[in-house]
Amino acid sequence: LPVLAARGVQTGPTLLVTGGIHGDEYEGPAAIQALFNQVEAAQLCGTLLGLPVANVAAWEARSRVSPADGLDLNRLFHRPAQPGQSQSPSQALAEAIFETFISRCDVSIDLHSGGARLVHLPLAGWYAGGSDEAEQLARGFGPALHPWLVPDVPGVFSYESHRTGKLALGAEWGGGGRLDPVGVESYETGLRRVLVRLGMIAADPGELDTRPPIRGDYQVTKMAGLFIPAVRLGQPVELGELLGLLYDSLGLVISEVRAVRAGLVAALPHLALLRPGDRITYIG
Ligand SMILES: [Zn+2]
Repeated sequence: LPVLAARGVQTGPTLLVTGGIHGDEYEGPAAIQALFNQVEAAQLCGTLLGLPVANVAAWEARSRVSPADGLDLNRLFHRPAQPGQSQSPSQALAEAIFETFISRCDVSIDLHSGGARLVHLPLAGWYAGGSDEAEQLARGFGPALHPWLVPDVPGVFSYESHRTGKLALGAEWGGGGRLDPVGVESYETGLRRVLVRLGMIAADPGELDTRPPIRGDYQVTKMAGLFIPAVRLGQPVELGELLGLLYDSLGLVISEVRAVRAGLVAALPHLALLRPGDRITYIG
């Protein structure tokens, strides 16, 4: 497992930054590498830990899930571990990452993107019911990322970190299997602002983003088909509004896809040919 660590000459908190928990997401890993290339231990208070590629098998397979067992690592961090959880390679990896790194950190930030199949509105998120400090850190990430109240999903790394009492943030940027240089720069800026707010480095912390957070969750499709969207990322929609149409291979409409709640469109498919159960949007 590639591990980056920088221990400052002065004491301070320990921040863990993770990327590549899904193997087809690239801005997070690149931003973590860039951050470590810039950090000077002489100017650092506390310890910075980085796992730029947390899921090496999935990374090398350029896949969201691990080729070893077909499992999504980011649904396997349950605490306490579920019975039989150390049975598969991904479950063992989840256990090892959580036990080794979360116990050592005060703050954890998990960087994602939409992956090969999805494109996300950039989001910087925290969990409900935690301390205000996590919200402040997320709102300080920078104006390129929209504030986001992350849904509670058991097994997700940042959610389970939050549940163990850590300040836990999660972020999303773009996707489609590409690396957006603006995303790398925005993530790196956001991480540096977190270091400033935690007192780990001295610099301008930037402004807090006061926009109301995106809430809600993913919406999945029950039907297969070619999806032609009727909305754009970031567009506000009403409950029941048409998001797009699903077509069969002859061009006949199979299904109208409508918003299950009101909010902003925060994700859309990149891989347009959908299967039942695929994520079709994130509205919140
Ligand atoms: Zn992801």
